[in-house]
Order: sequence, then C-alpha cells, then structure tokens
Amino acid sequence: MAEPNGTLVWFRRDLRLGDHEALSAACARREPVIPVFVLDPVLEDMGGAAAQWRWSIGLDRLSLSLRAAGSRLIIRRGEALETLKKLAAETGARRIHWSRLYDPESIERDTAVKSGLKAAGLEAESFEGHLLHEPFKLKTKTGGYFKVYTPFWRACLAANAPEQPLPAPAKIPAPETWPASDTVESLGLERAMNRGAAVVKDFARVGETAARDRLDAFIDASVASYHDDRDRTDRDGTSKLSENLALGELSPRAAWHAAEAAAARDPKAAAGAEVFRKELVWRDFAWHLLYHTPHIATQNWRDQWDAFPWRADNDDAEAWRRGRTGQPFIDAAMRELYVTGTMHNRTRMLTASFLTKHLMTDWRVGEAWFRDCLIDWDPASNAMGWQWAAGSGPDAAPFFRIFNPETQSAKFDPAGDYVNRWLPEYAASDLSRSAHHDGLKFFDACPRSWSMSSQDAYPDLIISLASGRQRALNAYADIAKQSPSKPIVSKEIIS
Ligand SMILES: Cc1cc2nc3c(=O)[nH]c(=O)nc-3n(C[C@H](O)[C@H](O)[C@H](O)COP(=O)(O)OP(=O)(O)OC[C@H]3O[C@@H](n4cnc5c(N)ncnc54)[C@H](O)[C@@H]3O)c2cc1C
Repeated sequence: MAEPNGTLVWFRRDLRLGDHEALSAACARREPVIPVFVLDPVLEDMGGAAAQWRWSIGLDRLSLSLRAAGSRLIIRRGEALETLKKLAAETGARRIHWSRLYDPESIERDTAVKSGLKAAGLEAESFEGHLLHEPFKLKTKTGGYFKVYTPFWRACLAANAPEQPLPAPAKIPAPETWPASDTVESLGLERAMNRGAAVVKDFARVGETAARDRLDAFIDASVASYHDDRDRTDRDGTSKLSENLALGELSPRAAWHAAEAAAARDPKAAAGAEVFRKELVWRDFAWHLLYHTPHIATQNWRDQWDAFPWRADNDDAEAWRRGRTGQPFIDAAMRELYVTGTMHNRTRMLTASFLTKHLMTDWRVGEAWFRDCLIDWDPASNAMGWQWAAGSGPDAAPFFRIFNPETQSAKFDPAGDYVNRWLPEYAASDLSRSAHHDGLKFFDACPRSWSMSSQDAYPDLIISLASGRQRALNAYADIAKQSPSKPIVSKEIIS
C-alpha cells in the first residue's frame, strides 16, 4: 500500500479543473491527488441515451485535461461507497472530496457515502460549485423555500454575490504510483446512442476549454443583444452553454461573472447581460425546486392535476417524437432535438405545450423523450420546464394559455429559416425553399425501424389547432370545477 496520505477527488457533474473547489482544496494540501470517476447505480440511471453518451465524451476530455496537468482520471464501476473505500485502501488516500449535488438520488447516496467513509476512519468533505446559490441557503422571509421565480431572483440579488471563479491548478500533485483504471469505453455509456452519435457529435461542444471559448465568443458577440435575440429560433442568439453547465464543464459562477464584467465594460451590454444572468438563475431555481420538492421530477407538482385526463403514450405522441405532426414549427423543433441533442428554449416551450395541450398527452411522456434525446439533459431544468409547460408546476404557464405554433413561428422564425433548416420534407413541398443538409442528417440518425425518408410527403396536421385547443380547454374547465377552492394554476404568469 502507498504512504497513507493524499486525497481522492470524486468527479460527478463537475467535469472541469477551473473553479473546482473540491479539487483546489485537495491540491492546496500539497499531498497526492487522485481524481476519480465512479459509474455507480445512481449515475447509470441518470439521463437517457444522449446524456449518457455525452458523459462518455465529456469524461474523455476531462481525462486529457488532467493528463495535461500531470494527473490522471481513475475510472471505476461499482457501488460508490465500496469503490471509494477500496480506492482509498489501494492508494493510501485518507480523504475524499466532492462537489455537492441536490437531486434526491444523489443526496441519498452522498449522505450514505459520507457516513460510511467516516465510519471507515476516512475524512469526507463536500464543496459547492454546481449552482450560484445552494438551495438551502436562500429562504423566503418566513424561512420557507421559493415557489415563484421573481422573488427568488430578488433573493439571489440580495444574497452575497457568487464568489469569483477559482483558477484551474496548473499542476496537480500526483501519487508515486497510480491505481488501475477502467477505460471510459469499457463503461459502455455510448451504447444506447446507436446511429445518433455520429450525427450529434458534430453539434456537441465538449469540455472545459471549448465551453470557455464559447462563453468568451458569446460575451463578445452576442450578450449585448441577448435580450432581443434569445427568443428568435432563426438566430444564434443564445449561449448554447447548457450542455457544459449540465455536466459542470463550465461553472455557473464563471458565466455569471463574465456577463457582469461585460456589462461593466460596456453599458450597452448591460440589458442583455442582466437577462442572461436571469436565465442562469432559472437554472438555480429549478434545482431549488428539485431540492425542496423532489416529487417535481415524477409527479404533478400541484396534486389537483392528478384528476386531469391526460392521455397516456399514443400514436399522436409518436408522431410528435418523429417530427410528423403536420405542424411545421413543432416538427422542425423535434428534428433539431434529434440531430443536435438540444433544442431552442422557445421551441422547447412550444413542443411541450403542443404535446400537453393540443395533444393532451401526459407531460411525463414528453419529459421522458427529452431525457432520452438531450445532451444537455438536466434533471431539474427538464422537470421544471415540462411542468411549467403543462401547467401542473410551480409558477407555471396557466393551462388556458395555449401557445399557437403558427403565430409563434411568425414571430420567432419570420422568414421560416428555422423550419427550412430542420424540416426537409416541408421545404421540399414548397418550391421557394430548398432542403438544408442539417435537416437531412435526421434520416441518418433516426432508427431504421422508423422507415423515414426525406422523400416522404409532408403529413396533414394530426389535429386542427382549434379543435386540439378546445378539447384541452374543456378538460381543464372540468377539473377546475372539481376543485373550486384550490386554484389549479399559479397566479403569477411567467415566460
Ligand atoms: C420543456 C423544457 C425542457 C427543458 N429541459 C432542459 C434540460 O434538460 N436541460 C437544460 O439545461 N435546460 C432545459 N430547459 C431550459 C432551456 O430550454 C435550456 O436551458 C436552454 O434552451 C439552453 O440553451 P442555451 O444554453 O443557449 O441557453 P441561454 O439562453 O444561453 O441561457 C444560459 C443558461 O441558462 C440556463 N437556462 C436558460 N433558460 C433556462 C430555463 N428556462 N430553465 C432552466 N435553466 C435555463 C441554462 O443553463 C442555459 O445554458 C428546458 C426548458 C423547457 C421548456
């Protein structure tokens, strides 16, 4: 056994070296540091095919960054506590560091890991880093948690500003000998992606350096117009940093301070920078809700919605998944999701609204599909987004406010560029358009069993917008009557 000293740094949703408190604290001890990734049952269950694949390429990149800093990533598969104890015994490490997470599964595991390590005579210390403000630190005046975004945002501003990001350690102290490691490939995280990986990889921005470069480019070129452009699906107006924030390749503090510095340098950037920081706080808000009300991930946040006659998974939902509803803006967005592993925020709201309202399908059907397809899948933001769109969540869009995809596309894709880019069959049906090759990639990515081709005729609408809307409103009126004393929508309207 090696000399008894040193620290295991257990990486999870923090695949970076910069602004990493757990890693910096370990390096500051000037004892060996052993970076570790453990594919345990909790992580194995986190996210679907695209998210798991994205983990695998993120881990490869982290491994390279660690090598460049004189270190390595030790990869193991197994139950977390036993694996960490075994690694501590193999390396002589006396302490284990990690960055805190706030979903119920991680909290349960980490609590057991901490007490198990302590019982084994090891030191265990967790650090912050995944959010701007930890969910237990911000409280309402009465000591509760926030259910509405605007007061949450105000509380964030009133709280201590997020710390300045820490620099990445230039050199990570290495042990004399390294323990054995599995390879990323042997974890099989990419297995379920099938044909999609070859297509989605061209759209993924992987690793800390790429995330930093994108942040810099966004701040220089786009943050000043972010408040005007962020809803335009036909423009490159948003940061596209969600995949990096979801896996911790970029810290939210780095993004927050970059926006703040931009506003300080140039007053013309101030309005855009503030709206961007508000979006980062939406991410914190989602984690705040998941921490305080974990049922948001699986059950109607407002239980009055349990009486709603949601349709279970059905043929209409299948048409929605494949981008064959006959509504071009919706179908284009569903193709964007499949080809890039992400979707514009405006169309996330619209496709979720269309599924839960026009098609009256249970939000969990859509949540599951996004979970399977998104490379930026985030358990908190996805659950909050779906419940927001369905109307069943806290601070949600009222059910009776039903987005009309036609007016939305006229507003946010006025020349039809987004639809033209992502929906070749529709483009082909109109001689003034030509199919964009990004949209054609869908047919390389989608399962062969779908038998889809760009030559297929574009379908008619599966339900007219007016009748879908009316069916949903009727069902809504029925359940509203059932619980007149308990409002089924929140009073505050947000978007
Ligand atoms: C139904 C639905 C599902 C969603 N699922 C996810 C998900 O799984 N993962 C995910 O990261 N986001 C999710 N979102 C939120 C949002 O759509 C994405 O964060 C955003 O589109 C990412 O693009 P961007 O990085 O260019 O964002 P920007 O506009 O540049 O915003 C900067 C960052 O702020 C955060 N952010 C922005 N908008 C939101 C929001 N509404 N809620 C929470 N955080 C936000 C993201 O981390 C984002 O990267 C979902 C929204 C809806 C309506």
